[in-house]
Amino acid sequence: MLESDKQILRINMRDLSVKWEKTPEKWSKLGGRGLTSTIVFEEVPPLAEPLGRHNKLIVAPGIVTGSNAPTSGRLSVGAKSPLTGGIKEANAGGRTPHKLARAGVKALIIEDKPSDNDAWYNIVIRKNDAEIVQANEYHLMGAYKLTKLLWEKYPNKPGIIGSGIAGQLLLKGAGVFGNNIENSDPGRYAGRGGLGAVLGSKKVIAIITDDKEGEVVKAVDEDKFKSASKALREALQGHPVTGKDGGLQNYGTNILMNIINEAGALPTRNWSSGYFEGASKISGEAVHELVDKVKEKFGDEAEGAYAHPCHPGCVIQCSNVVPYEDNGKLHVAPLEYESAWALGANLGIDNLQQVAELNRLCNDLGLDTIETGNALGVAMDAGIIPFGDGEAAIKLLKEVGEGTPLGRIIGSGAVTVGKVYGVTRVAAVKGQSMPAYDPRAIKGIGVTYATGPQGADHTQGYTIAAEILGVKGQVTNPRDINKADLSRAFQETTAFIDSSGYCLFIAFAILDVDEGFKGMVDTVAAMLGENYGVDDVTKLGRNVLNTELEFNRRAGFTKEHDRLPEFMKEEPIAPHNVVWDVPDEELDKVHGGR
Ligand code: SF4
Repeated sequence: MLESDKQILRINMRDLSVKWEKTPEKWSKLGGRGLTSTIVFEEVPPLAEPLGRHNKLIVAPGIVTGSNAPTSGRLSVGAKSPLTGGIKEANAGGRTPHKLARAGVKALIIEDKPSDNDAWYNIVIRKNDAEIVQANEYHLMGAYKLTKLLWEKYPNKPGIIGSGIAGQLLLKGAGVFGNNIENSDPGRYAGRGGLGAVLGSKKVIAIITDDKEGEVVKAVDEDKFKSASKALREALQGHPVTGKDGGLQNYGTNILMNIINEAGALPTRNWSSGYFEGASKISGEAVHELVDKVKEKFGDEAEGAYAHPCHPGCVIQCSNVVPYEDNGKLHVAPLEYESAWALGANLGIDNLQQVAELNRLCNDLGLDTIETGNALGVAMDAGIIPFGDGEAAIKLLKEVGEGTPLGRIIGSGAVTVGKVYGVTRVAAVKGQSMPAYDPRAIKGIGVTYATGPQGADHTQGYTIAAEILGVKGQVTNPRDINKADLSRAFQETTAFIDSSGYCLFIAFAILDVDEGFKGMVDTVAAMLGENYGVDDVTKLGRNVLNTELEFNRRAGFTKEHDRLPEFMKEEPIAPHNVVWDVPDEELDKVHGGR
């Protein structure tokens, strides 16, 4: 199957119709985020109620997803966000992306909502075939149990993505979960922006892609595609961060815990310090040690792992499986840096087992760990439970599933908790909580949080790669306030990668190795039969950003919304005792002219 053979699968949840539409020419060169954002821009009224019938939820595999290119099994989920009120794209791996692409889906568009408020549905997709099936029996079921039942019911080791309890309760902290590759566990999240609530508002519990083998997606120019894939693979495998036995395979993304702590930028106890004395106990190194320890103790019975892929064909394999310490069995997979920080350092919790349990609970409830960790942090700041009390945090989080009023407040995200309890130390932009890097200590990432169209989101312009980790061996001073150009360059390149179907983590290698960068661009060009060169990346990424920014403008956003919260300008953060001091004019330079 050629990429151009893939079709638009349009599902209307009011009349329960299923239509396969030939991909319109105007969308034919798009994929992933470029495609979800374009469809949202063209088909969703900017002032639509995010949980109303006029919003749409779009799922699109990337341009090279479904092929045999390395680390290419990602998909984008897009909609108008109930959390930010603007356009949103969230990106994930798992079983579904390759399967969906190989089933012939260029984009799945879910529109409208059933008139019967009590009816719940699953969507089942096979090659060139889809149906909507009644699913009331799964309503408000925990995601582990739900995915296990669906895994047993559908015969072809299906890809499953879904709305979770939080999404079905229409809570703004809800993500769209996806199952892991080796089992049914819901460990893969298109987590941000409350997109799980949009799926829940459509009365969809799960989308099950159950094709048998599928058909590998072929490029227009297969020879060019194969040699470019090889160049990319070599760059990834030869790099000390992304390669075999490299930093990501050994310690996962959570290798960052100690690094960011040492940089004085690890948000601690609801953003009141940049240093957490217990960081090493919840770090990637601690997970690695635990995996080795239970392996030694329980032998083949032990289920912990590092160097674990989140989708078939990932050569980086940054994922992990955290075991229970007392029996070696699977506790949660994966435990990423962002989750370990949000549910650990940000809450003052240094007990790895408690952090893993909080992550497992988020997965079971269908909650974004970043938003939920921030919400719990604000709740601790409000004195509801003490900082550092893991058991109390677990108990409070369970209230989300019980649907108590306090549980619903926590599940609605940090801004809501702050408003209800009068806490002004809320680290959010455009309604969405900040991830695990304090912008007072690392300015470029703050520029991205402020100016990116998605609200506070590190993945839309990861300047940490330059400011902390170094690109081509050079580190840009994290405290330099002139970061508009850096953030813009990262935002544009990222928009291209998010559209390609590659995992963003290929950036660690391709920013260092020119042949890898060219390989990435050439695979995309070969897949589409285009003549893109390396210089086209920023132009194509810019087009995606412009579409998103224009949607937000029409939804009522101005440059005055591109600002960090007031407390960051006034509360210095230890240990460097720095405030947010990037001038507004520097922020306005990022996208200019709005
Ligand atoms: S690098 Fe990590 S997050 Fe990215 S696709 Fe591979 S396992 Fe998944």
